[in-house]
Amino acid sequence: MILGVFKEYGEEARVALLPEAVKKFTSLKVTVFVEQGAGLSAFATDAAYSEAGAEIKSRDEIFDKADVLLQIQSPLEEDVARIKPEQVWVSAFNPLWNTDLTKTFLEKGLTTFSLDLTPRTTRAQAMDILSSMATVSGYSAVLDAALHLPTFFPMFMTAAGTIRPANVLILGAGVAGLQAIATSRKLGAQVHVFDVRSAVKEEVLSLGGKFVEVAGATEDAAAGGYAVEQTEEFKKKQKEAIHNTAIKSDVVICTAQIPGKKAPLLITKETVEAMKPGAIIVDLAASTGGNCEVTQDNATTKHNEVTIIGESNYPSKMPVDASKMFGQNVFNFLKLMINEDGSLNLNFEDDIVKGTCITHQKEVYNERVKSVLENK
Ligand code: NAD
Repeated sequence: MILGVFKEYGEEARVALLPEAVKKFTSLKVTVFVEQGAGLSAFATDAAYSEAGAEIKSRDEIFDKADVLLQIQSPLEEDVARIKPEQVWVSAFNPLWNTDLTKTFLEKGLTTFSLDLTPRTTRAQAMDILSSMATVSGYSAVLDAALHLPTFFPMFMTAAGTIRPANVLILGAGVAGLQAIATSRKLGAQVHVFDVRSAVKEEVLSLGGKFVEVAGATEDAAAGGYAVEQTEEFKKKQKEAIHNTAIKSDVVICTAQIPGKKAPLLITKETVEAMKPGAIIVDLAASTGGNCEVTQDNATTKHNEVTIIGESNYPSKMPVDASKMFGQNVFNFLKLMINEDGSLNLNFEDDIVKGTCITHQKEVYNERVKSVLENK
């Protein structure tokens, strides 16, 4: 088969495969086409791709000849129009949120996979782009906050006096949140953490964070390790607990998300107004509405004396390691669909292949996407 790797759109600096991942595909007898200049923003030259065994092609040639089309971002309308039913589109297009795009794929009878919906099973861990990109985001959010903060993170006892450590509040202890705890602790901050899933308490404590408990959270074992919507009564208690911790914090890192839904609102405008002057909020949930009421997606703003960073694409700001991790995830996933002779095998017997498939032959394969579309 021919795997075509596209250059990303606009400001996105990552690329879906670096030359090191290309080599892995060619060793499985797969021909790899890479769009001219695709890796430049991640410091991978066309020459490096050629050396790794790829063929440098134009976007048109890739659309024309490749069997599998790979890109990180959702396709633009003009590209959707060019995908043929016999081709396979692979990217991360958030189908639980972008339902219109899923409907278009369905109507056109296209075969599409969205890597952000890879099942969260032990076997699929090595293919999970949400985890690898969340690792980059959690780490970067803390460093960004530290650079904006007018005080130190660690405690210092110096001849010029004692500096107290920063207080960091982390909302949501999923993959990004746990990485944010680890990074904040390494920088010497005191860390308080809040999550609705009680299962994360032990992980938080083992990383040196303090878990803020609010009784009465709704948990659902059927949600596959994800959080679910909370009752109004719980939301009220939670708002109060978060308010009381946030007003004592120097930094708040927001990572709380509910798949396919608007992000839960956890920091109200009133809380921001009661926070310390100079405090920093980094809202990683900005693209789905934000955990903070005054967040603006893709913008750094000020509310009174508090800085709110609404950044939802830190991985693009660390394109080398983010692309390296993304490419390794893609390789681990696509190798489930490659025969010994390098040909494509849409092996829907495999639960990971089936679960990551969004549309095929005018049917929705992913169960969560199916249920979202049925309830629209
Ligand atoms: P996510 O990005 O969907 O959410 C981030 C965190 O926000 C979660 O911990 C969630 O509980 C929390 N949250 C949601 N609503 C909240 C609210 N109202 N208040 C406070 N916190 C709230 O989650 P994620 O990081 O992608 O992963 C969630 C979990 O999935 C992980 O902790 C892990 O257990 C599991 N996981 C499994 C695999 C695997 O087995 N392959 C891979 C990755 C993650």
